[in-house]
Amino acid sequence: MNVFGRRGRTAPGPRSAAGLRRIVTGLALPPGWTRDTLVEVVARRRRRPIQLVPIDAAVIGGQYSGAWLKRDHDDLVVYADSSSLRHSTNVVCHELTHMLLRHDEVATPESAADAVDVVRAVSRPGVRAVFGRSGYADEQEYEAELLAGMIIAARRPGFGDDAAGRIAGSF
Ligand SMILES: [Zn+2]
Repeated sequence: MNVFGRRGRTAPGPRSAAGLRRIVTGLALPPGWTRDTLVEVVARRRRRPIQLVPIDAAVIGGQYSGAWLKRDHDDLVVYADSSSLRHSTNVVCHELTHMLLRHDEVATPESAADAVDVVRAVSRPGVRAVFGRSGYADEQEYEAELLAGMIIAARRPGFGDDAAGRIAGSF
C-alpha cells in the first residue's frame, strides 16, 4: 500500500485515544451544536465546503449508512433521506470523522461500477471519488466510530465539567 500522501506527507496512522480527544477539543463545538454547526466547523477546519445530500435509502443501502463524495473544490456527504434528524446526525458525524482523520489518503475509493447508483442519485457533476464502507480498513472504521462517539458524547450537557474532565482524563 502507498503510505505517502499526494504531497509526500506520511499518511495518517491510527490515533491514540488522546489524539482523538485532541481533535474533539480542537473542534471547539459550541454548546448545543446542531448537525449543521458540526458540518460548518469541519468545513472551516478543512477549508473546503461540505454539502449534505439526502438520497434514497435504497441507494445508500439502509438508513444508517452514509458515504463521502469528493469533488475538486468541495465534499458531499450523502445519507438516507428517510432517516430521522438524530440518525442522520450520527451518520453525517461518522462521515465527517473520516474527513477529520484524512482517511481518503489511505482508503480505496469505491469502484466506478459500485458507486454508479450513488453518483447518479446525488445528481451533481464532477464527483471524483466515492468513499463508502467497503473502501476503509476495519481499523479506520473503528477509529472513525470512536471519534464520532466522542464528538456525539461531547454534546451532552455537562461535558467539560469536573466529572466529564475526569472521564476524559482516563483515556
Ligand atoms: Zn465509515
